[in-house]
Amino acid sequence: MNYVERVLNNIKEKYSHEKEFVQAITEVLESLKVVISKNEEFYEKNAILERLVTPDRIIKFRVPWVNDKGEIKVNMGYRIQWNNAIGPYKGGLRLHPSVNESILKFLAFEQTFKNSLTTLPMGGGKGGSDFDPKGKSDREVMAFCQSFMTELYKYIGPNTDVPAGDIGVGAREIGYLYGQYKRLTSNYEGVLTGKGLTYGGSLIRTEATGYGLLYMTEALLKKHEMSLKDKKIVVSGAGNVAIYAIEKAYQLGALPITCSDSNGFIYDPNGIDLALLKELKEVKRVRIKEYLNYKKDATYYDGKKPFMIKCDIALPCATQNELTLEDAKMLVNNGVIAVLEGANMPSTLEATSYFKEHHVLFVPGKAANAGGVLTSGLEMTQNSMRLSWTREEVDNKLKTIMNELYQNMLNVLKTYNLEEDYVLGSNIAGFLKVVDAMVKQGF
Ligand code: NDP
Repeated sequence: MNYVERVLNNIKEKYSHEKEFVQAITEVLESLKVVISKNEEFYEKNAILERLVTPDRIIKFRVPWVNDKGEIKVNMGYRIQWNNAIGPYKGGLRLHPSVNESILKFLAFEQTFKNSLTTLPMGGGKGGSDFDPKGKSDREVMAFCQSFMTELYKYIGPNTDVPAGDIGVGAREIGYLYGQYKRLTSNYEGVLTGKGLTYGGSLIRTEATGYGLLYMTEALLKKHEMSLKDKKIVVSGAGNVAIYAIEKAYQLGALPITCSDSNGFIYDPNGIDLALLKELKEVKRVRIKEYLNYKKDATYYDGKKPFMIKCDIALPCATQNELTLEDAKMLVNNGVIAVLEGANMPSTLEATSYFKEHHVLFVPGKAANAGGVLTSGLEMTQNSMRLSWTREEVDNKLKTIMNELYQNMLNVLKTYNLEEDYVLGSNIAGFLKVVDAMVKQGF
């Protein structure tokens, strides 16, 4: 048994109850075999893999808050600081009832590689709570965020750990979290990203993950002498990533025809009405089904996923493991050319393998959705310099770095004489930088 297999088996045995964590570790370690095998003794002597799969620390805390009926509620809060070899911990906060240690560990681990890929100096972390902001009043969300930050502030800082948004954490939640941090510390500093534009936020941060996803799609198609013009795109999700993926898809000449939430999906053959989608999801915060009240040509599929719709490109932008082997088969049968992950690990391992076997161009989330954290990195830079770049400046930097990131994966594949496999490319490229920093800093 080689070094990778020994570490992997140990993880599988020890954490068999943490499905998502084991899945993420398996994908990454399997793809590192080609690098590790070239110098196994060195990596093992430095215990590189054991150190990489173990977080620096897991902070876990009680979050009490009072609802509008005056009842005290209690949730679990977490911050996982995974690896800070190349910069302060950085990664989002997720508020969703499904949040648990396994999910946050997989996200923090993946984040370490993603942040390394962006070329910016950011380590990896992730956090959140099983609190569900859906259906809560603004006051309830504020009460929760204030209580959450009352514990979290002890562990974060602009040079220590800089959280951001994720599922269930948008501009509203970041505002409440920042307000409480400021109250507790008296410091007005760049401790969170995704802030509002009036208090240190960066233009384009809201749009960044979706926009970056489309910039990478464009680069991928260009390499294959294709363009986005008139390509039919299936998008899942109707949150931050999905909305701005749809926006940029239109700007680049494509036709996004679906969006979804956890109840079902909308298929609009004329193209998703972006203004309506924003109104429903960003302003009214209602279920996606409401789209039908305004668009008679559209169809709503209750309890179904949009991957059953024929398309050229699929962009899963909702959540982990939403795209299964069965979905992958439908996409391939319908002639999909490319799948790029807007969400984190939306494809199961089986679905990813199926795409590979059927020569579908596939880019995993840690590369395809890196535009969000990379623009968070740009927000941190602007905060440190105490200035604000224009929309065009930030957007140009985002596009340039997404293209560099894509090129970086191709270069790594070339160096190791590998075929066009972006799972390998992203994992190896992310790994090499983090490991170099870890080795140089000692154990
Ligand atoms: P949002 O909360 O804005 O939107 C999430 C969307 O996904 C909603 O439409 C939601 O529907 C749907 N969804 C959530 N959970 C499930 C589920 N269990 N089953 C089906 N649908 C679900 O989150 P984001 O758009 O910010 O994040 C989406 C994904 O992108 C996540 O994987 C996140 O980690 C990843 N990501 C986000 C980044 C960012 O900058 N925001 C950066 C990089 C990655 P419903 O309302 O019904 O829950």
